[in-house]
Amino acid sequence: MSYQTIIIGAGMAGILAGVKLREKGEDDFVIFEKASDVGGTWRENRYPGLTCDVPAHAYTYSFAPNPEWSALYAGGPEIKAYFQGVVERHGLGRFMQFNSEVTRCAYDETARRWRVTLADGREAQARVLIAASGVLHHPNIPEIDGLDSFEGRAFHSARWDDAAELDGARVGVIGNGSTGVQIVGALSTRSAAVVHFQRSPQWIMPVPYFPYSDEERRAFREDPARIDEIRYGEAYWSGIRRFNKAIVDVNSPEMAEIEAIVLANLEDSVADPILREKLRPNYRAACKRLIYSWNYYEAVQRPSVTVERSGIAHVAPDGVQTRDGTFHRLDAIVLATGFRADRFIRPTTVLGRGGVSLDDVWARRPHAYLAITIPDFPNFFMLNGPGGPVGNFSLIDIAERQWGYIDQLLEHLRRGDCAEICAGRAALADYETRRIAAAKTTVFGSGCTSWYLDSEGVPASWPWSYEAFAEAMSAPKLADFDLRMTPSREPVTA
Ligand code: NAP
Repeated sequence: MSYQTIIIGAGMAGILAGVKLREKGEDDFVIFEKASDVGGTWRENRYPGLTCDVPAHAYTYSFAPNPEWSALYAGGPEIKAYFQGVVERHGLGRFMQFNSEVTRCAYDETARRWRVTLADGREAQARVLIAASGVLHHPNIPEIDGLDSFEGRAFHSARWDDAAELDGARVGVIGNGSTGVQIVGALSTRSAAVVHFQRSPQWIMPVPYFPYSDEERRAFREDPARIDEIRYGEAYWSGIRRFNKAIVDVNSPEMAEIEAIVLANLEDSVADPILREKLRPNYRAACKRLIYSWNYYEAVQRPSVTVERSGIAHVAPDGVQTRDGTFHRLDAIVLATGFRADRFIRPTTVLGRGGVSLDDVWARRPHAYLAITIPDFPNFFMLNGPGGPVGNFSLIDIAERQWGYIDQLLEHLRRGDCAEICAGRAALADYETRRIAAAKTTVFGSGCTSWYLDSEGVPASWPWSYEAFAEAMSAPKLADFDLRMTPSREPVTA
């Protein structure tokens, strides 16, 4: 199988890449997807309460507005259906191969092509390789003494066990990120008892939640400008800009405003002073990814819910023993313990020029020039790669801007300006030095644990303003690239 382009992953970013290649009139590409369906994170996550905390009209492709969203914040199944609809409308199905897990990608310097191996032994090759393999993809299974001995159902939030009967049951939820908070909110009215095991509490940003009426949906349908008002309007974007300012400048008025809001939310919403203190974080707001919730504080004040802060000593066959000696008898345990955020395309083996392995290049930390391209991995580009923007905004918007950048690089290949293109070594070294220095000063580095931090405690994120990101994505600086006409190891520019 030989193609111009191989895309890995049929989630949000892979679908985007496919649509954009079609827009350019390209049809010599394939999207390999290891699962049997599209949707990425929205296929993998099926937990009760699953909601995207970015307003639905902003969590859509710019080229596919959706007047039919049911509410300000859309639920998981609805979002997955949206992506399926985009695939159908753009005729992308014929480019997709499911149950096709890519296990190895090796650059053939002589042929100047990526040779790709699939788990079932099939092989394919392409000139361009796009990693759209997701960020939060590999579940983090905690090492908790006795977990294996639990006799009820115990499963990770992204591996939802449909056979687990949670209605009327006693359920333990371990983990307090966006996922755990949403699950507790949903189970609080369904389960007989919910114990929320929190290693560290979270700041909660209060947000409104409301369904869209039939009349509103009709209005969105008849006048798409109403959708644009939400997606591109001042209310949404000034919020993004203020949030971004707060992230990069912890002493800014914008950060003070966020801190005041989340503090007031805690003080005003939680009546019991003992519970309030249990829920009070000892780090700055937005240090961990800020939780946006309209129902969590209400949920934890229901009689069925217990917030457990004393730490898990061990799991027994019939429940969880905490360090203060309390035993919680449980029928099921949900591990909302997050993901291994340093994996990206791995465990797929990726070998660049000279057989250099991505595992070796990333031995210290995953990194890429502008989160997109890596020296000696020619014509290999990542969407939502390492060090890209993270925060409470739409990753679709980020991926679209990244594609705009990648497409300009591809244009050099299409025009024959070069046969190979990737970041130069000096450019990446300089970029990464500046990125790390700036990242340490962001709120993410202000003293908490989170999936944003790498093994050395450096925030793995874009550390500058949103405007700076948009500017960087607007046009590649070719002087930072290694463009080659031949497989020669001498760069034309670097
Ligand atoms: P997460 O934010 O990484 O949270 C993991 C939780 O598990 C934390 O509370 C962590 O505690 C806890 N934990 C991990 N290992 C543990 C252990 N051994 N013992 C006890 N507790 C342990 O994961 P997530 O909630 O799945 O969310 C990940 C990201 O997915 C979010 O930040 C967001 O970007 C995305 N997400 C988005 C939405 C949305 O609405 N857009 C919804 C869900 C998820 P510590 O904090 O103490 O480490």
